[in-house]
Amino acid sequence: MNAPMTMPTPELSHESLMRDHLRAENLPQAVMPAPPINKVLRGQKALVTGANSGIGKAVAIALAHAGADVVVNYVSRPEAAEEVVQEATHCGAEAYAHRADVRKEDEVQAMFKTMIQEFGTIDILVNNAGLQKDAPIDQMTLADWQFVLDVNLTGQFLCSREAIREFKRRGIRKEVSCAAGKVICMSSVHEVIPWAGHVNYAASKGGVMLMMKSIAQEVAPHRIRVNSVAPGAIRTPINMEAWGTPEAYRELMKLIPYKRIGEPEDIGRAAVWLASDDSDYIHGATIFVDGGMTLYPGFETGG
Ligand code: NAD
Repeated sequence: MNAPMTMPTPELSHESLMRDHLRAENLPQAVMPAPPINKVLRGQKALVTGANSGIGKAVAIALAHAGADVVVNYVSRPEAAEEVVQEATHCGAEAYAHRADVRKEDEVQAMFKTMIQEFGTIDILVNNAGLQKDAPIDQMTLADWQFVLDVNLTGQFLCSREAIREFKRRGIRKEVSCAAGKVICMSSVHEVIPWAGHVNYAASKGGVMLMMKSIAQEVAPHRIRVNSVAPGAIRTPINMEAWGTPEAYRELMKLIPYKRIGEPEDIGRAAVWLASDDSDYIHGATIFVDGGMTLYPGFETGG
């Protein structure tokens, strides 16, 4: 039987084109394992910032697959957020989208207030929203510096603070988790790898590292777990120029010992594990999910 004729979305057709390139050039492709079926997060309430694209989208869907109800935060493109809500709902989760700019204190506070009204509480916060505004240091404007720091670092502070207020107020819910709450910060390999031309971005992720560890140290006695995921190169819109052509992809592979780009689902699985009691003794840690990018690949052939 012929398949019905449908127009592929531009995103899908671009992605399938890329996979064709990789096949044709015999370059390694990602393995796409099935989503988790183990409902390790059943009954838990999660909020993912910047969840209508890339990594945030994959994390929201992975949490829903694992049994969590999910708030899909977005700042633009409500239709993309609604698609994530639909996909999460298909997993049997409750989900809704909430527009809030993570830089804005009042919008963040209103988002948490609504979540507590809608879902009763929060168990898992994933601080994912982030962006780049790249320029050589001598051409970087103060506005570009400030904007990246505001979204990538202040946004994580504002959301963490609201989540921790609720975790401390509520305490442990034994029926869903042995921790009183979990914060997962989306960092980057650039919390440790300097990045010329991206000074604002690297500074923001270096800041996330010590913000995460300091909060972790402070709230540990309350049984609140705080950790980071540090992705390497993941196939999302943020870095399309690094993987969008076969030439770019080949260059990128020089930085990745495991010789494949990461997929958003690689991060989704790490986030589910960090949110679950399976990782209960992991605290104040950065989990690098980077195919070995932090292994100094330039030394592969000797130093
Ligand atoms: P993306 O551009 O696909 O997604 C970023 C998301 O953040 C979008 O949904 C965007 O709307 C949202 N966002 C931006 N500003 C916001 C604001 N003010 N308020 C609320 N949401 C806002 O990029 P991505 O690759 O999925 O990036 C997600 C996170 O992962 C970022 O923190 C990024 O720094 C980090 N990261 C990505 C990579 C990678 O290779 N893709 C590597 C390391 C770290």
